[in-house]
Amino acid sequence: LMQLSIPLNFIGFIYREIRQAMTDIEQMFDLLDVKEEVTDRDGASALAVSDGKVTFDDVHFSYDANRPILKGISFEVPAGKTVAIVGPSGAGKSTISRLLFRFYDVQQGSIRIDGQDIRDVTQESLRAAIGMVPQDTVLFNDTIAYNVRYGRPSASEDEVAQAADLAQIGTFIAALPDGYRTMVGERGLKLSGGEKQRVAIARTILKAPPVLMLDEATSALDTQTEQEIQAALDLVSRGRTTLVIAHRLSTVISADEIIVLQDGRIAERGRHAELLVAKGLYASMWDRQREATEAEEKLRRARETD
Ligand code: ATP
Repeated sequence: LMQLSIPLNFIGFIYREIRQAMTDIEQMFDLLDVKEEVTDRDGASALAVSDGKVTFDDVHFSYDANRPILKGISFEVPAGKTVAIVGPSGAGKSTISRLLFRFYDVQQGSIRIDGQDIRDVTQESLRAAIGMVPQDTVLFNDTIAYNVRYGRPSASEDEVAQAADLAQIGTFIAALPDGYRTMVGERGLKLSGGEKQRVAIARTILKAPPVLMLDEATSALDTQTEQEIQAALDLVSRGRTTLVIAHRLSTVISADEIIVLQDGRIAERGRHAELLVAKGLYASMWDRQREATEAEEKLRRARETD
């Protein structure tokens, strides 16, 4: 039996290694989003960002021809301002961020940055201009320093540490036994959702893009983590054109405009206080959200005192 179990163990080892390698490749594709749905047109020029105004002009889009997802969306994010997108699940919020990155082309209307149609510029220059803080960040199987530096590979050690501090993850990293050399990812130290998001924020701070796209986590974070992440996000979005798929009250309260999506259309728009007064979809959404958050907090406190 011994003789058999060694090769079996070995096969198991090989199998795990291959599976891990596959996961790495899949994650890399996710990260780079190498779905080549669109191509640069002949003679496409580099996007010239002056102040970073983003315009969605009567945007229509569907993944499948017979099921429209966005049915004529128009809004503008003025340079340096923050627009929050809210709405029920499946309303098309993430689709808006995918279109801004030009993972797909719009079927009608246009998306422009500083007046340039994103279909007329190179994808490389477009993606260099936009920083993305996704809901769930995929980490490379490498050191935490490598993962932060990914935002700007030429960054020095000091710059990496500075970005981590600004993203409120510096103290956490410094306290690890191997500090910045700690291996993370599937094979290394597992980070929590909030920690991973702060790594993504640190990356974005290093990248320093003129346009920022945030996708807030839907999952409840504890109050302290939420406050730390909010502080880091406020810092990175200050003075940058920011489009945020918002799930947190704190984000929408301070947004310059809130767009409420429903069934592929803009159902309501305005600032937080105005929308509350309007007592429409937005007001009822946030009432429910507040109740849910309070219930979760209560549950957490009850667990802590157990
Ligand atoms: P949530 O808050 O749940 O993340 P959302 O508002 O971000 O939702 P989207 O992810 O933009 O919603 O999806 C909008 C609609 O498009 C959904 O009905 C979804 O099923 C559909 N959809 C999303 N991605 C694809 C795709 N790749 N192919 C086909 N349909 C898709």
